Amino acid sequence: MSKLLKFQITLFRRYSQNSPEYTKKKFNVIRGNYNSIQKEDIQHFRKILDSKRVVTDSVDLEKYNTDWFFQVRGTSNILLKPKTTQEVSSILHYCNENKLAVCPQGGNTSALGGSVPVFDEVIVSTELMNKIISLDEDSGVVTCEAGCILENIDKYLEPKGFIVPLDIGAKGTCHIGGNVSTNAGGMRLIKFGNMHGNVLGIEAVTANGEILDCLSNLKKDNTGYHLKHLFIGSEGTLGFVTKVILQCPPRPKYRNAAFLGLQNFDKVLKTFKLLKGHLAEILSAVEVIDTPTMEFIRKENKQDSPIGDYPFYLMIETSGSNEQHDEEKLHLFLEEALKTGLILNGTVASEPAKIQAIWSIRENIANGFRAYGSRMLQYDTSLPFKDYYNILEPIKESTEGLSERVFGFGHLGDGNLHLQIILKNEATDELKSRVDAVVFEKVAAFNGSISAEHGIGFLKAKYMDKIKPKNTLNLMRNVKKLLDPNGILNPYKVIV
Ligand SMILES: Cc1cc2nc3c(=O)[nH]c(=O)nc-3n(C[C@H](O)[C@H](O)[C@H](O)COP(=O)(O)OP(=O)(O)OC[C@H]3O[C@@H](n4cnc5c(N)ncnc54)[C@H](O)[C@@H]3O)c2cc1C
Repeated sequence: MSKLLKFQITLFRRYSQNSPEYTKKKFNVIRGNYNSIQKEDIQHFRKILDSKRVVTDSVDLEKYNTDWFFQVRGTSNILLKPKTTQEVSSILHYCNENKLAVCPQGGNTSALGGSVPVFDEVIVSTELMNKIISLDEDSGVVTCEAGCILENIDKYLEPKGFIVPLDIGAKGTCHIGGNVSTNAGGMRLIKFGNMHGNVLGIEAVTANGEILDCLSNLKKDNTGYHLKHLFIGSEGTLGFVTKVILQCPPRPKYRNAAFLGLQNFDKVLKTFKLLKGHLAEILSAVEVIDTPTMEFIRKENKQDSPIGDYPFYLMIETSGSNEQHDEEKLHLFLEEALKTGLILNGTVASEPAKIQAIWSIRENIANGFRAYGSRMLQYDTSLPFKDYYNILEPIKESTEGLSERVFGFGHLGDGNLHLQIILKNEATDELKSRVDAVVFEKVAAFNGSISAEHGIGFLKAKYMDKIKPKNTLNLMRNVKKLLDPNGILNPYKVIV
């Protein structure tokens, strides 16, 4: 048996063991009025791209049809890998003319099933659009193709003294086009802000194949409507992002990380307030982890708290330009937090390997939950600080009997709580809807948002009419109609 065949079989086994039920069946979705791919379509795509970049093999397609978290699974029988904007344009033009639905895909790490087809949409991947085009070393403005892997952009910037203003656990896999399309948040949002703030320009292809040049590389450019913002966070429903211009700050010269143990959530909040005051401009991340999550990390990821057991843990990072100044600030904060009994214990790291060891505890959490497939429900909530953790208890109570355990962790610095629920049984559509209803009701009661940074994707699309005012939703629908009158771009996602 050839090596390639063995590899394909391994891949197939891995995906078929973990593969969720087909989305269309599990969620009882009705297929839109689109045409199905015919032989002539495949032939046409082979004229636009070379045949190696038109993938129709079902084994190869499996990972593009299944999402990273094993929650959803489509049945597409074709994947296209364009290398240029012109090729994307030709593909979309053809799909629009022939009413073929399209699913744009980057690194396929999104949390809500937006990146995989529901039925037989044509998957158009940015995998081969991975060139960094230029860097303006005076301004730190980098121009790159949409398929550049986030971490690769950061590695390219590092020796030039800049840093990518986005840091997420999926950085080794996700693409910048996907990050823009989801308006990704991540760990350093507290310091650098989100994609709306950091993307200066975009090139996008609309559903009919028209190429829109919004490639401004200026920090200030108030010349009419800021169309780029339509594509940031629209999850592939309004256009296909092909190029991104990103402003990147100077790379901090010194970093410190601290891992702290705390008694209760009240002290977590007080510590957060204290550390904001002390660390101010050098504060670059504040993450929180609760006891169930730490126990989960220990069991599933075989990693441990470096300081022993505490009810809550805070992970903080400072990034600055003056080692002595930064360390002094951090130590003053720690001294006061210990003296006043806000924190019970802590460890500080300033060497890169040790900092990474601390961060890996946080970054690996999602990977651990992945093993639970469709028994795991994940909620990405945004809440007022005072109620950030108060929401957990009522959710535990209301899902008793259904859930095995409820976990809370996340980007505390941005009020973003990731709530994971492991169910006792596989999540059927009905069971998921029951738990969703509980979580969304509690989030609304606490004046929060049901999506802080992961978007809407497929899994939350059915709730849009409950969370958006009617006229806002209508305007969104009208914008969609204007840019994509045939509705070919990422159907069944965001607004349905
Ligand atoms: C371990 C892990 C940690 C994560 N941590 C975070 C986090 O801290 N913060 C956060 O915000 N998210 C996080 N995520 C979610 C995910 O990584 C982000 O949403 C990311 O931005 C998705 O990028 P991607 O390239 O994988 O996009 P995909 O998953 O491929 O696609 C995401 C959406 O964008 C659309 N899309 C993709 N590329 C394009 C394009 N070129 N043009 C138009 N539409 C496109 C897709 O159709 C889909 O709707 C995490 C995920 C994992 C697995």
